[in-house]
Amino acid sequence: MPAHEPQPGRFLPITPLNDRSALRPDCASCYALCCTAFGFTKSADFAVDKAAGTPCRNLATDFSCTIHESLRPRGFSGCTVFDCFGAGQTVSQGYFPGENWHSHPERAQEMFGAFASVRQLHEMLWYLVEAGSRTFDLDTAGRAADLSTMIRRTIDQGPAALRALDLPALHEVVRTLLMEVSEEVRAGYFADEPEGTGKDLLPQADLIGRNLRSVRLCGADLRGAYLIGSDLRGADLSGTDLLGADLRGARLEGADLSRALYLTQPQVNAASGDPETLLPPDLSRPGHWTGG
Ligand code: SF4
Repeated sequence: MPAHEPQPGRFLPITPLNDRSALRPDCASCYALCCTAFGFTKSADFAVDKAAGTPCRNLATDFSCTIHESLRPRGFSGCTVFDCFGAGQTVSQGYFPGENWHSHPERAQEMFGAFASVRQLHEMLWYLVEAGSRTFDLDTAGRAADLSTMIRRTIDQGPAALRALDLPALHEVVRTLLMEVSEEVRAGYFADEPEGTGKDLLPQADLIGRNLRSVRLCGADLRGAYLIGSDLRGADLSGTDLLGADLRGARLEGADLSRALYLTQPQVNAASGDPETLLPPDLSRPGHWTGG
């Protein structure tokens, strides 16, 4: 069997469907796919232009980052935000063991394509764990488990199965289920319009720089909202749908996100917080936070 042909069951460890341990990055088991596969435009998050498929100029030959300890002060804060949901080690160790984009450049595009697809699938798995655990509807929980199983099997079948997958269609199925669970969860919080905040606390809302300090946002639907630089200090986001919300530069000091819905590590990494910020148990406090 060629090295890049998968052996079923290798890529996602056989863990319970609600186990997110395989969905966390393990950079030591990856040959810096994120530092190579994606392209970046010079911005506040990434100090230089970088073409997709080319290694970052800060990448060492052993696939480590030469400026790892000073990414933020040197203008690479985006690197401290990114999270591959464990796709890096799945592709590096599972799909292409003993190979990498440098030693086998003829396979580089296949590696990069697989990485991009697996990252999306792992992210879906991350959300489905939450949907399955937050719903009280057994049928919905069963659908979440079935979707997770199907996605895991697809990943285990390897790059060819990924290429045959209709990712946009799968995204839509997953998104529909996530929204159903969101409605169910948010309904349990009897969300009112928080006093003094206006009537624009809605999905996709432009809340850039908004003062939401100490506001009770329980049960609000802020899916895809732009919360860049917003002041959420001391806010209660229990049951708040944050799917895809942009939290770059948001102030989360003292905020309660322990029961927020669909919060991910990249969103947390992009914000600022402190030891008083409450996070869901599967998320960790970024090192750059106050007291982190
Ligand atoms: S700056 Fe470091 S972490 Fe960021 S892409 Fe370059 S090598 Fe990777």
